[in-house]
Amino acid sequence: MIQESTREAANATQQYTIGSGDYFIHRIAAGATFRFVDSQGNQAADTLFYNAQNPAERYSATDTMREQGNIYLTAGSVLRSNLNNPMLEIVADTCGRHDTLGGACASESNTVRYDLEKRCMHACRDSWMLAIAEHPEYGLHKRDIAHNVNFFMNVPVTDAGGLTFEDGISAPGKYVEMRAAMDLIVLISNCPQLNNPCNGYNPTPVDVLVWDA
Ligand SMILES: [Zn+2]
Repeated sequence: MIQESTREAANATQQYTIGSGDYFIHRIAAGATFRFVDSQGNQAADTLFYNAQNPAERYSATDTMREQGNIYLTAGSVLRSNLNNPMLEIVADTCGRHDTLGGACASESNTVRYDLEKRCMHACRDSWMLAIAEHPEYGLHKRDIAHNVNFFMNVPVTDAGGLTFEDGISAPGKYVEMRAAMDLIVLISNCPQLNNPCNGYNPTPVDVLVWDA
């Protein structure tokens, strides 16, 4: 569902750019609103959310899909935790649909899906692992890497129930905006994938804007 925001980027209290293939890890307080901007279009932002007070509570794709009765995420979606608590709500969305079924790329899945030669290619899981290794202050460990959202990524489900990775429906400047319902740790891999069209075979930067509560 397309829902534009009334917020002005110029009024954002924090602003970051995640370079192509880089990670982003940050705390966002309850009540804050934050926006991911697909600055150049057709990029995938593979994102994990945790309760900053208790990182064992984390985003759950299954609880989210069951409670909203839909497999796609867009404006109005409430993203839930593994304890079925609301973590955040999507309050604006100019892309229209985001995936939470496809999972993140990993060297293992690249090997299975594409070729043994792909094993050493940079993948989202590597970026997440690097982020938690370089930032032990967040208290996240390997076992905390679980379900994720692929913002801006187009993974339609076929009539037969199959999953396909398709060319993006996002475009330069499209954004998704969320309001935190609890203190969050946000961990993003700005996807470096080069084997499928999730980022148009050309990883590009993603911007993060935050409006403090
Ligand atoms: Zn990826």
